Amino acid sequence: MQPPLRVYNTLTKQKEVFQPRNPPFVGMYVCGPTVYSDVHMGNVRTFISFDIIYRYLLHLGYKVRYVRNITDVGHLENDADEGDDKIAKKAKLENLEPMEIVQRYTNGFHNVMETFNTLPPSIEPSATGHLIEQIKMIERLIEKGFAYERNGSVYFDVLAYNQSNEYGKLSGRVLEDLYTYTRQLDGQEEKKNSYDFALWKKASPAHIMRWPSPWSDGYPGWHLECSVMSTKYLGEEFDIHGGGMDLKFPHHECEIAQCVGTHGKDPAKYWLHTNMLTVNGQKMSKSLGNSYLPHELISGSHELLDKGYSPMTVRFFMLQSHYASTLDFSNSALHAAQKGYFKMLNGLRVSRELKRAEDESIAINEKAVKQINQICDNCYRAMNDDFNTAQTIAHLFNLLKKINSIHTGGLEVAAIDQATFDRMQSTYQSFVTKVLGLKEENAADKNGLISSLLKIYNEAKSAKDYDKVDEIRNELKAQGIIIKDMKHGVEWALEE
Ligand code: AMP
Ligand code: ZN
Repeated sequence: MQPPLRVYNTLTKQKEVFQPRNPPFVGMYVCGPTVYSDVHMGNVRTFISFDIIYRYLLHLGYKVRYVRNITDVGHLENDADEGDDKIAKKAKLENLEPMEIVQRYTNGFHNVMETFNTLPPSIEPSATGHLIEQIKMIERLIEKGFAYERNGSVYFDVLAYNQSNEYGKLSGRVLEDLYTYTRQLDGQEEKKNSYDFALWKKASPAHIMRWPSPWSDGYPGWHLECSVMSTKYLGEEFDIHGGGMDLKFPHHECEIAQCVGTHGKDPAKYWLHTNMLTVNGQKMSKSLGNSYLPHELISGSHELLDKGYSPMTVRFFMLQSHYASTLDFSNSALHAAQKGYFKMLNGLRVSRELKRAEDESIAINEKAVKQINQICDNCYRAMNDDFNTAQTIAHLFNLLKKINSIHTGGLEVAAIDQATFDRMQSTYQSFVTKVLGLKEENAADKNGLISSLLKIYNEAKSAKDYDKVDEIRNELKAQGIIIKDMKHGVEWALEE
């Protein structure tokens, strides 16, 4: 028996047993990218982390509606509601329509997500597709006294809200701190208080992304879209809300305030925040200039990389740490991940080929049976402990030891009862491919070619043509494939 799934809720700051509001349905909202540039590997880490969460919930049998938005308007260059819209700025720079920028980087984002084998969300709504709903939410906030208009812009009144609610409960910020934090930023004169945030901004004549509203021709504030789209597709109260931990404040704090202000209910039961991918201990970000793009990593063209790494190696690298810990990006860590990924893949092939044959002369090995069942339990236990992929991988390698031991004859297959054998196979295979989402890169192609080469290798061996044997061995080794002469015949494996 395994303990139930527990998740670390960043709202209550504790691990809690996961109890969806309306099982088996789970509503999960994750903040998606702002599509004004290529996503970097830091962004990819966050989306892979939520992919794992999504996959595991599906594996447990939940029916998950996974909503991940596309931010295509309203994300300004700084948090003080000043500066250019990131997309409009890029459009001006490249002399393109803002929607051309949006389309280009949305396509790019989808390609990257597919490359890293993340499942598409159930719904992928965009901010510009929900302007009517955003205007409605602003109207309701004004009616309730939580928002006010100034010169065609509308701001959320944090002080008014805080009189009957708790602004800052997610991020732990208190208004006095916020006052000092936000006061230093320019252009606050329209706001009653510097910590108020924009719901609607009046567009200046030069601003190219604009829509009519009761207050002005303008555009919505960034935080509003997520409140509107999560409510629309998941209801006023849903289960999981996620994003990178850099979004806790102000973005998620403001989302909570907007939802509570509008319908009086806390939107999400569980808030999950992923930690940052770092480079030499510093957050990977475009503005710091330390970002790695997916294609630079795969081709090895980034100046700090000594070679390219395949997408699944990178995915494995990401899964070797828990999503809530920081993860540092380095050549050596990627190199180690490649070994680990190849080992896991070799195991997958061996496990698929393994067959159980009944042999009544062999007694069941009770100790081994117990161990295998315990390791299978441990895989669930680790994932049930707030999706701990790092521990899960360690348990899968333990399971692989048993699989290999059966494969090489150290442990008789007939000494494992059928049910345990089946459980071992299905746990290993489903955790590697379905839960961790690791796929075999170029598997089919490789299989065909290598098998043909192995046939020639065998013929050369029988004919005692050792020059040819060595030649084939060396050729394959140069491709990272080793030939193994086993008792039961010739096999190949990826060199770990
Ligand atoms: P953005 O498009 O900048 O809003 O980012 C999309 C997602 O990537 C957000 O959930 C961010 O929190 C997340 N993110 C940004 N930088 C990193 C990083 N270095 N490591 C992990 N996640 C990140
Ligand atoms: Zn969001």
